[in-house]
Order: sequence, then structure tokens, then C-alpha cells
Amino acid sequence: MSLISQSFDALIVGGGGAGLRAALQLSEAGLNVAVISKVFPTRSHTVAAQGGIAASLGNVSEDNWLWHMYDTIKGSDYLGDQDAIEFMCRNAPAAIYELEHFGMPFDRMDSGKIYQRPFGGMTQNFGASPISRTCASADRTGHAMLHTLYQRNLRCNTRFFVEWLALDLIRDSEGSVHGITAMQMETGEVSILQAKTTLFATGGAGRIFQASTNAFINTGDGLGMAARAGIPLQDMEFWQFHPTGVAGAGVLITEGVRGEGGYLLNSEGERFMERYAPGAKDLASRDVVSRAMATEIKQGRGVGPEKDCLLLKLDHLGEELIKHKLPGIREIARNFADVDPVKDPIPVVPTAHYMMGGIPTNLDGQVVKNAAGDVVQGFYAVGECACVSVHGANRLGSNSLLDLMVFGRAAGEHMLNHVRQHPNHRPLPRDAGEQTLARLARLDQQKEGENVTEVGAEMRRAMQTHCGVFRFPDLLEAGVSKIHELQQRIARTGIKDKSQVFNTARIEALELDNLIEVAVATMVAAEARKESRGAHCREDHPQRDDANWLKHSLYHSTEARLDFRAVRMQPLTVEPFPLKTRVY
Ligand SMILES: Cc1cc2nc3c(=O)[nH]c(=O)nc-3n(C[C@H](O)[C@H](O)[C@H](O)COP(=O)(O)OP(=O)(O)OC[C@H]3O[C@@H](n4cnc5c(N)ncnc54)[C@H](O)[C@@H]3O)c2cc1C
Repeated sequence: MSLISQSFDALIVGGGGAGLRAALQLSEAGLNVAVISKVFPTRSHTVAAQGGIAASLGNVSEDNWLWHMYDTIKGSDYLGDQDAIEFMCRNAPAAIYELEHFGMPFDRMDSGKIYQRPFGGMTQNFGASPISRTCASADRTGHAMLHTLYQRNLRCNTRFFVEWLALDLIRDSEGSVHGITAMQMETGEVSILQAKTTLFATGGAGRIFQASTNAFINTGDGLGMAARAGIPLQDMEFWQFHPTGVAGAGVLITEGVRGEGGYLLNSEGERFMERYAPGAKDLASRDVVSRAMATEIKQGRGVGPEKDCLLLKLDHLGEELIKHKLPGIREIARNFADVDPVKDPIPVVPTAHYMMGGIPTNLDGQVVKNAAGDVVQGFYAVGECACVSVHGANRLGSNSLLDLMVFGRAAGEHMLNHVRQHPNHRPLPRDAGEQTLARLARLDQQKEGENVTEVGAEMRRAMQTHCGVFRFPDLLEAGVSKIHELQQRIARTGIKDKSQVFNTARIEALELDNLIEVAVATMVAAEARKESRGAHCREDHPQRDDANWLKHSLYHSTEARLDFRAVRMQPLTVEPFPLKTRVY
């Protein structure tokens, strides 16, 4: 069976902040650009970003991109590549002004300048004191940003394919990328979308865990497609657990709450972060706060019937401030925790939030296929699905939205040049689409298959138990066997409903093929890394070990092999920041 095919100059998979920023760069230059998204673009997870976007504007107090760079390197626990971090921090102010000129409604100070709030790990003068560096639109920054970018794209005729599900990457025998196969959900029809350049901006994969702040659509599809096509996944052992997910529900309470002066309490009414991080207290970086919370709970100072959560107090901030700066938080607390934060504290717990790893790329967003840094022709990745790597072992809050803007633009620019230099489509490989058709045929013909919901739930439980905030050697070892066993079961999933129109059972099964790729890479890399660094915290190796582990991991799924790649310690123009011990 041959598939219908459509051709574009540039194909962007994902309509979140990263995809829309890259698309804009290309559409504005007059290219024929398609953005495909499995949900309406403004429903992408970027819309849920609350706290803000970092840049050293210095509007509240003196600031400098070097200080931002220092904080980001230190926050990354030195695993971030210093050239990429310099690129991002230097370009941050320009990215904010650009958004402002696009029409993004930032909060303002009385002077008319863009308002900035403090966020964890952001400091003045190389760690001397906390600084206000995070620009925000109340607690709905991602919402404001995504709508701004979407409207901007409409203005320059970007074509949107809404509720289309990308299924597989098309690579030829030399490894170059020619586009993707995708399914229109409404009809179940599969087509080939051919392009001179293809960019993945498919977002995170928090749904590999049981408790997650991520949207249900965050199933790591880009990573799954890349892994199946023989491209490695980098630094997958590093997952950020956000300290404040609403207990039981997982919905996020932004770090902005602590930025505005909220703080955490244990069952004894103690502000326990004063003990764990006397300097930064509740605004220590997220891995530090999450681990402190897990320790408090483990030692019996949790609250609630199961003593398994802690309290976030903000009533002292006053109704006026909460109404103006944190209106969405009040709504979330009322709806998901049944408390009004103007009067009562919110029960919270560390919750899987952000994937630091992803598809490895260089500063231009080009996907890198090996430790030597060789690129995959015609293929790019940006945003949470990519690993450039600016966040290293731990992302600082408000640096992700910045990552989307800076590298979305850079990738768009590089794609533009590529298309200008290679104006013709290369012929599609003869077997284009066959892999996808085989996957769909297997799913349709599978008899007595594994139940998608059950095996998916088992995978999420396994990740939560074996690969959570604290990691134990015996649990990790058992986790690797467990996740491989689940991988084999997931290869045999079956669905009862074989219909074509909006078949959500089929979509869920296809998404699970992607989730399991992410879960396997995470578990294997976490078991292998015998040190504690950033968000990866092992009970048997509590210290960072730069002599042996200052390196990125690369998991090659098709070969079930892990290898490593050096961290780029040389920035673009300034001196490298030397390794220091952890001080918070
Ligand atoms: C609750 C929450 C709050 C956050 N707050 C902040 C914050 O304040 N500041 C900050 O810096 N960061 C924050 N983050 C992190 C940040 O928002 C995300 O990392 C970032 O928005 C991801 O953007 P993205 O463009 O990479 O992906 P997304 O916005 O997740 O978009 C992914 C896109 O890919 C599409 N897609 C995926 N798979 C397929 C497929 N198979 N076929 C077709 N389309 C597909 C989706 O439809 C979607 O359009 C927050 C994250 C969460 C979960």
C-alpha cells in the first residue's frame, strides 16, 4: 500500500512554545511551513507554565548575563554544556524584548518596566544573594506566551495540521531525515509528510511517572520516534521533581509562590528548609527542596492522613497580592485541594515535572547522533524533547521557557539557511512509511494482546517505585529487569476497538510505544550512573564524582547500548566556570 504524501520546506512537529518560535522564524521568511500537533496548538503543555521566563534585564536590581550563566551552570551541577549556557543567557534579554514586541502582555512595575520575580537558584554577583530575574504575566506566563506566538504565526501564514499524530521518522540509508509519517486522528488515515528540514518540538514525557505535573499528552513521542530510528537519547537519568505538586492530584503550584514569599512547613509547624539550606531556604534549587521534603516525610514529619505530604503556607502574603500575582494558584488550590490559600496552607508533595535529557542537539538545534557530535542531516530538535544541554543535571525554574525561545529561533535560522542551500526535495526512500504500516498492522492483528491501560499503569508504577526522588541500588537493578519485561509486554499490546474515526484506544497504544522508550532509557541510565548529581540522587553514591562521571550519557535503543559523551566545559567567549562543591 502506498501512502499519500504532502511536501513542505519545513515541517515542525509540535505546536508548543518551541515549535511555534521556530515556525515563526521560517514563515516570516516566506517558507512553506507546516506545524503538526496532536492537540490544538494553544493547548500544548507550554500553556500551563505559570512562574515565568528568566533573563538578566536588571529591572528590579542590577543584573548581568554572566551571573545568570554562573547560576545555570551551578544549578546544572556542572553537567550543562557551558557554550550552550552562555548562548542562552547572553541571548535572554533580546528574547524577552522580542516577545514584548510580538505583543506579549508582561506584568509591569510602576516605572513601566517589565516586572521580575525571584526564582530558586537565581542569584546576584555569583551566588552572593537572591535576585529577581524571572519575567512573568501573573501566574499564567506560558498561556500569554503561547497565544502571542500562535497569533504571530497566523499572521504569516504558517499552516497548522491540528489533531494529527506523528508516528515515525523517515530516514534514508545514509541516515538523513526526509519527514515523518502521521495519522489524521479524525479519519485514522496515515500520510507521509515530506520536508527539506524536520524539527521535533514534541515536549516532555512526564507521563512515564505515576505522579506528574505534566499534561496527559506529554508522552515523549519525539523521543520514541527518534529512538526507534536509531538516534540516541541523552542524559535520561535526570528528571526534575518539582517540590510543590498538589498532594494526590499532581497539579503544579508554581515556584513563584515561594518567590513571592510563601514557604513550606512540616507537621511540627517548622519551616524546615532553614535547616537544609540556611542561605536560600525555600528557594534552594528544586532537587534540594524535593529531597528535603522526601526526608521530612520519611522521618515522620509529613502531614495528612497518610503523613505523606507537607504544607505550603502563603496566607501571610495577603489577599491582595494573591489576587493580583497568583490568581491561578488560588483557583488550583480551591479546585484540587479544596483549600483557599488566602486562609489555609496547601498540601503539597514532590512530583515529576521536567525531563532534563532528550534528543541530543548542537547550538543550532541540529540533532547529534553520536559522542563525536556528528549531525543527522535535515533533522532538528528544540524544547523539552531536546537536550542541548543547558539544564544539565537539574534545570533552574524559568530557564525552560527561555530555552524554547532562544533555541527555537536559532534552529529556525539554521533550517532557513539549509533550505536556501538545498532548494529541492531529495527523493523519498523506497521503503518510506513501511515501518509505520507494519506497526499499525501488528496492532490491528494482535490477538490476546496486553491491555494498554493495565500495562501502561504498571510502567508508571515501576518508574515511580524504582526511579523516584531518591534512588536505591537494589531498586534500580530490579527496575531495569522490570522495565525490560514491560517493554516486551508493550510490544504485544492489543486493542479491541479497530475503528478508524477518532480511535483513542489506538492513539493510546501508539503513545505507549513512545513512553516505554523513554522509560527504558531513564531506568538504564539511572542504574548505570554511580554518583549523585543534580536531580539524580543515589543512596549508595551520595557524592558527585567528577573524576568518573562528568559526562553525558547516550542511550542507543536499537542497540540496547549506553555510551558517554564529554561535557563541553569551554564557553563561547568567556573563561570556563570551574567545578565547585555544592553550597546552597
Ligand atoms: C505545569 C507546568 C508549569 C511549568 N512552568 C514553567 C515556568 O513557569 N517556566 C519555565 O521556564 N518552564 C516551566 N515549565 C516547563 C515548560 O513549560 C516546558 O518545558 C515547555 O513549555 C515545553 O515546551 P515545548 O514547546 O518543548 O513542548 P510543549 O509545550 O509540551 O508542546 C509539545 C507539542 O508537541 C505536540 N506533539 C507531541 N507529540 C506529538 C505527536 N506525536 N504528533 C503531533 N504532535 C505532537 C503537542 O501537541 C504539542 O503541541 C512548566 C511545566 C509544567 C508541566
